[in-house]
Amino acid sequence: MVVPKKQNVWDLLKKEILKNEEKKIYYSEKFKKIEDKVKKSLKDQKTDDALNDVTIWALVLWSSDVHYETFDNYIVVRFRIDWVLVDIFRLTLKEYKTILERLKYSSSLKLNITTIPQDWKFSLFIENRNIDVRVSTLPVWAFENVVCRILDNTNAIIDFDKLWFFWTTKRILEKSITKKNGMILVTWPTGSGKTTTLYTILSKLNTREKKVITLEDPIEYKLDWVIQSEVNEKNWFTFKSWLRALLRQDPDIIMVWEIRDYETLETATNASLTWHLVLSTLHTKSAADTLDRVINMWLKPYILASALDTIIAQRLVRKICPYCKVEKERTALEISIIENMMREIWMSSLWSKNIKLYEWLWCEKCNNSWYLWRIWIYEIISLNEQLRNLIRQWSTTQEIITSARDWDLITMKEDGILKAIKWYTTIEEILRVI
Ligand SMILES: [Zn+2]
Repeated sequence: MVVPKKQNVWDLLKKEILKNEEKKIYYSEKFKKIEDKVKKSLKDQKTDDALNDVTIWALVLWSSDVHYETFDNYIVVRFRIDWVLVDIFRLTLKEYKTILERLKYSSSLKLNITTIPQDWKFSLFIENRNIDVRVSTLPVWAFENVVCRILDNTNAIIDFDKLWFFWTTKRILEKSITKKNGMILVTWPTGSGKTTTLYTILSKLNTREKKVITLEDPIEYKLDWVIQSEVNEKNWFTFKSWLRALLRQDPDIIMVWEIRDYETLETATNASLTWHLVLSTLHTKSAADTLDRVINMWLKPYILASALDTIIAQRLVRKICPYCKVEKERTALEISIIENMMREIWMSSLWSKNIKLYEWLWCEKCNNSWYLWRIWIYEIISLNEQLRNLIRQWSTTQEIITSARDWDLITMKEDGILKAIKWYTTIEEILRVI
């Protein structure tokens, strides 16, 4: 079968993926082990041990969050593993009550308050590591739902070379982060791992000759030698006034956690124009969206053109399990899909016959999900004089993006597909995320 050219290849593939979806059920023998261990600790009235067990296993399974979800007469404990929520085991209401009280007590939440949301964190010392757990409660009709975000410092900062940049994008980024001034925006939909990217860049920039100050909300990880401040909007002190106070501390590099409004954008922009390197984030989907957003926040194009240096749009995708990936025969349909896709992303010069495909296998190591860990895919725009001029001339975002493609812009789709072809992730996963 040959794919008709007019048909949207992405939609066609998405349909194919949905067909296979029910086969991909996360399940592992480990889940039963976790359940047994936690229930035994609870039975022996060792609630601390039970909580430790949950956290240790969440870490072992590379989870970012532990969810306790309440139903009529039971509670489901779920882990978010590589972005996907996985049911691990169930607790009875009685068992949950003990855990809930312990969680609230450990994280200094008020035990007697059950009708309003609360959040705070506690620390655990596990296997020579200090793990912070941020606990948030939400009253639901019967009980309180709890989500624990696991803040594992060991994974917060990784080596810059391990951020999964292709050498071209890496070169662009290395150039922009070593400049003395300019604004670098990391844009992200929720859960796209911006924390790691930002902290890794910061730690690369952080030398004793430079002063690095951050303005965060809240501080998630403690960085060595970086002055981190947390926004506290009490006493009429706004985000903007914090930022101004921070600039009076004579920094070289500042990181503003998120640009939420025009005032923050304006202050951050001025900082960039007055010889500071500014890193910040915006809640947008792509590099093009980011340009649209900052212009729509009424930042004058000529100021934006001078202040902005680089936009990094990123997404996390799941990585193929290295333990159970195997090569497979390709069908005519698959070859045709790849060829179509190559044409769509202007890479038809890559000979599709050289592209190898992988087989769906499952193993215990990836909880029968076929994926293990995650990698990033990127879209990076670095402004050169031509692009700056286009912004100054009030060009449309589309015109700017089209021109950027003549230089070195690689779109997220391209970056993703290149990574799928190299077997880092799968084409299915790229289609799911983009
Ligand atoms: Zn596997």
